[in-house]
Amino acid sequence: MPPFTWTGHPFTDAGLAAILLISGKERPEDLTEKDVTKAIEFASKLYARKEWSSGYIHAMMLPNSGILMANPSMAKKRTPTAIAENLLSLLHEPEDPNAPICEICGKRHARTKPVYRSDFPLVGTGGIPNYFPSGKDGANICSHCLFLTQFLPIVAYRLQRVLVIHAYPHELMLELHNEAIDEVKKTLLASNARNFRRPENFLFQLLSELTVKVERDELWQNASITLYYFVNNNQGQELEIIHVPSPVLSFIAYASRYDSAGWRRIVAIGWDERCSRGLAKKRKESEIEHSCHNRVYSALLSGKSILLYFINSKEKRTNTKWSLLAFYCSEVLGLDKEALEFIKGIGDRVVETLEKLPDNKLKRRVRELENATKLYQFESFFVGLERLRQELGIDKPLMTFDEFAQILTAYGEDMNVSWKTVKNLLLFRIYEKLHDRLMKAETEAGEEEDEESKIEFYGLEEVEE
Ligand SMILES: [Zn+2]
Repeated sequence: MPPFTWTGHPFTDAGLAAILLISGKERPEDLTEKDVTKAIEFASKLYARKEWSSGYIHAMMLPNSGILMANPSMAKKRTPTAIAENLLSLLHEPEDPNAPICEICGKRHARTKPVYRSDFPLVGTGGIPNYFPSGKDGANICSHCLFLTQFLPIVAYRLQRVLVIHAYPHELMLELHNEAIDEVKKTLLASNARNFRRPENFLFQLLSELTVKVERDELWQNASITLYYFVNNNQGQELEIIHVPSPVLSFIAYASRYDSAGWRRIVAIGWDERCSRGLAKKRKESEIEHSCHNRVYSALLSGKSILLYFINSKEKRTNTKWSLLAFYCSEVLGLDKEALEFIKGIGDRVVETLEKLPDNKLKRRVRELENATKLYQFESFFVGLERLRQELGIDKPLMTFDEFAQILTAYGEDMNVSWKTVKNLLLFRIYEKLHDRLMKAETEAGEEEDEESKIEFYGLEEVEE
């Protein structure tokens, strides 16, 4: 039996993960011939079933597959034994020294003929577009890489398309597909990913559970995850790739462990309102996380800031602790610790000034900051505050001229670390320290200010962009 290795290709790695999970082993080098035979038997029994062959393999992954006998014309001859024989002969297929080197593992000679999409997803055939850089018909793949790929259906999650989660370190890849194998063993059907309709929502759910289960930080420090969400059938080939950046992974790991309630509050603001309201009306709240788009998730995946979601400006409160915010700023936004401490210090001086004001004036000042959507409005908030400090007889100025310049411009026009970042950090500090008084001022003001709060709401929406 050949020694199997991780290749870095999502489909062969997923197949290898399947064989390892079926055998209850963690490393490819620990696999024995018996393990592989058992995996072949396990898969062949499933693949001979109609739910797998015509309903899944042919319909979504490997149309007309001859190896797995999913081609509808083979229905009568399709048996576990016949499929197992095909897999075994692939495993023992002799190498052709004249063939090109395998495009996936780079180690063995490819099969004599290029492999097509009926045996390997998304490689194309004839006039159909494919997802390989050479853009030619099929791909040069060796029999072992092809063999591993035949186990892909067992670990993949079946949503509207097929989901493969490619992860590094490999231990993480096994953890993320454990559930799929467990379900296959229990139901003899492919896992439907708990009925999730969005692959990223499913992944975030898995991650928040897994980060609590696997507490070893080193697993998350250099982890990376890419989702391959695809369909490969006679109607076409579609592929969506969703990459989860490494800093985002360590943030999620930290957030779900350090302040899981706070992290849930942050995520909760992100749900698309129309979708979640619609489901709530039908009393299907539990489906929100399965079906609705979440702005926090999509911002994290597309490298946009989620700072706005750390605060709840309507209720004048923070959704989590400063320390989680600080972790996010340094880990994901790349803000250095010194800058963060500096902003925190300014925030405390702002609070020190504001808390001397009567409720109604305090509220107005904070609103001025909340409503600042242009740099000059942000500037004038500080100018006003400086004047206020003099009026109140506070000794030291709020900021020196250098500090003032730094807070406004030093972070440049960088999308993530701009004055808007500073603004959100300051609001966080203000809500954290002055929540009770701000809420009191809100209630005292009563309803006559309804119009004004509408403006405030739109102001914040604009900042989010
Ligand atoms: Zn290969």
